[in-house]
Amino acid sequence: MASRTVSLTGWGRIAPSRAELAEPATAAGAARLLETSGRGLIARGLGRSYNNAAQCDGGVVISTARLNRILDLDPATGLATCEAGVSLEQLMVAGLPAGWFVPVSPGTRQVTVGGAIAADVHGKNHHVAGSFARHVRSADIVLPGGELRTVTEPSDPELFWATAGGMGLTGLIVRAVIQLKRVATSRVRVDTVRTADIDETMAVLAEHDTSYGYTVAWSDSLARGARLGRSVVTSGDFAGPGDLSASDRADPFAFRPGARLGVPSWMPPGLINRYSVGLANEAYYRKAPRARQGELQTIGAFFHPLDAIRNWNRVYGPGGFRQYQYVVPFGQEAAVRRSFELVSRARAASFVTVLKRFGEGDPGLLSFPAPGWTLALDVPARTRGLDGLLASLDRLVVDAGGRVYLAKDSRVPPGTLAAMYPRLEEFRKLRAGIDPDGILASDLSRRLRL
Ligand SMILES: Cc1cc2nc3c(=O)[nH]c(=O)nc-3n(C[C@H](O)[C@H](O)[C@H](O)COP(=O)(O)OP(=O)(O)OC[C@H]3O[C@@H](n4cnc5c(N)ncnc54)[C@H](O)[C@@H]3O)c2cc1C
Repeated sequence: MASRTVSLTGWGRIAPSRAELAEPATAAGAARLLETSGRGLIARGLGRSYNNAAQCDGGVVISTARLNRILDLDPATGLATCEAGVSLEQLMVAGLPAGWFVPVSPGTRQVTVGGAIAADVHGKNHHVAGSFARHVRSADIVLPGGELRTVTEPSDPELFWATAGGMGLTGLIVRAVIQLKRVATSRVRVDTVRTADIDETMAVLAEHDTSYGYTVAWSDSLARGARLGRSVVTSGDFAGPGDLSASDRADPFAFRPGARLGVPSWMPPGLINRYSVGLANEAYYRKAPRARQGELQTIGAFFHPLDAIRNWNRVYGPGGFRQYQYVVPFGQEAAVRRSFELVSRARAASFVTVLKRFGEGDPGLLSFPAPGWTLALDVPARTRGLDGLLASLDRLVVDAGGRVYLAKDSRVPPGTLAAMYPRLEEFRKLRAGIDPDGILASDLSRRLRL
């Protein structure tokens, strides 16, 4: 199969590496690649993981860009059968006219079904819906060596739960059946609360988990003292037809992904720094109402505000940026508070700072979500003192019994990862069984010896 040598990075635009990029158009074509490859090989969807999980230095990267057909979508049951390269946006466009939405949506809809399973992604509804794999009825996986296997949770729980969150290291997912979620319109009824500090933020999030299907807090990472952890909490549920204006009722499932603005290529480096982010955080916090109820928002505005700007990752300049996301168990509220203190004291310029509560995790061996508090940060990679800050956060997270998210990780040491993921050895054993020659490998798996 034709392939070309390319340089790849993840969404954070750090750690580029070169590989042969192959784009099979069929499952059989993909299987041939896994049969014949003597080199390391890994799958790649839309490259929205932040670092190098979908890269394989000196090896082969299998893009699912051409495996992008929705094969069936039953309007009565909401079961969607699709190739692994189908994006969540494609599923929304196809499902909404019949009243079906994706069961779980991360903060961007530009991710593939394969990538959503491999990272077992979560969304604002984790406390009620769990993560993506919970809604996967079956997955067709090409195993190392080329065997194509249909895997369901009842028929092969081991492989199913190693693949969910397994970061592409158990095989290439070529097709999946997903149970979509019934919605009555494409608008979300949103309530907003502005909180004064971290204690109020956590209290509001806990309360809203009991009454809303979707909830999350945007936090001012630079606020200090009495304002530490001040936030804007937005919570909502899909609106009913009666909530819509008369004109919107004519098209209750309207969804227009539409044209997106681009970030100019001449963007000056260093635009995102502690001063500009301090101002932006202040403005965003002040602009939010103290409390507002029943605002109708589009899917784009509520779930994927960053998707409105194509390539927004370029605003961080050529140095790129690091994402850091942890979860610590409930009962570790002091660790959450402490993490806010560490970030604000380090003056780390994170504009996209998101705090949320996870519900029950699923049995994925390397699946990230677990019951507790999760915090995500975006920081320019060239920030002075960033390595020390993130190492301090690692220690805090390990001591609190938590973990970091592999889809975003760029630097956690292997020993620390083992302390975070108690089932890592099980995962390694399973991999040794299905891939004894170590055909599947990514830059991430090599660094962490996954
Ligand atoms: C703006 C933004 C917001 C985000 N918000 C969230 C969020 O709220 N929640 C969340 O959980 N994540 C979030 N993410 C992370 C993102 O959802 C995950 O990294 C997701 O895996 C990306 O999917 P992708 O198709 O781009 O996969 P890639 O980034 O290309 O690959 C990710 C991993 O999946 C594997 N993979 C991809 N396709 C296949 C396949 N067909 N078979 C086997 N393995 C495969 C790759 O090998 C790699 O290990 C966000 C990312 C961005 C950029």
